[in-house]
Amino acid sequence: MISLKCPHCHVGLKVDEGKLPSGIEAFKCPKCKSLIPISMLSEKEGDDSLVSDTTLLLPVKKTTGRLTVIPDAGTQEQIFPLSEGIAIIGRKSSRPSRTTISIQTTDRSMSREHIRIEVKKDVRGGYKHYLSDNNSKNHTLYNSNFLENEEVVILNNNDEIIIGRTVLRFNE
Ligand SMILES: [Zn+2]
Repeated sequence: MISLKCPHCHVGLKVDEGKLPSGIEAFKCPKCKSLIPISMLSEKEGDDSLVSDTTLLLPVKKTTGRLTVIPDAGTQEQIFPLSEGIAIIGRKSSRPSRTTISIQTTDRSMSREHIRIEVKKDVRGGYKHYLSDNNSKNHTLYNSNFLENEEVVILNNNDEIIIGRTVLRFNE
């Protein structure tokens, strides 16, 4: 936690730097909604004299997100909205499965229950998206890295997931 004062409305803020997305240059003051440059965080580090009741809660993902199947030779574009809870995602098949999001594809290297995405509300009222491989035969690539068994990653906007030969994109 870093304490600082908003340069615009002078409210005292406590900022959890770990909760800010990487790569951003400014964040919104929760009181006056003006932008505060990230560079202010390093300047005020360790200064506890500005403690106030206001705690900065950023970023909050209010949407439950969606998955887009990127079209290729064997697959048409498909868009699946996610909802709170657990989704099992994989190839559509006539055989019974626990799949809740079924992708119409000729890609046989995609398992029927290939990945799992859990959408959970966090303490701040936003949503977090947890991706894991569902013991699939051909494994899962997440932003070009293979997911290990039992590995769980938190999805960010525009992340790429490859199951079989098929590319999925996650959006908030
Ligand atoms: Zn402010």
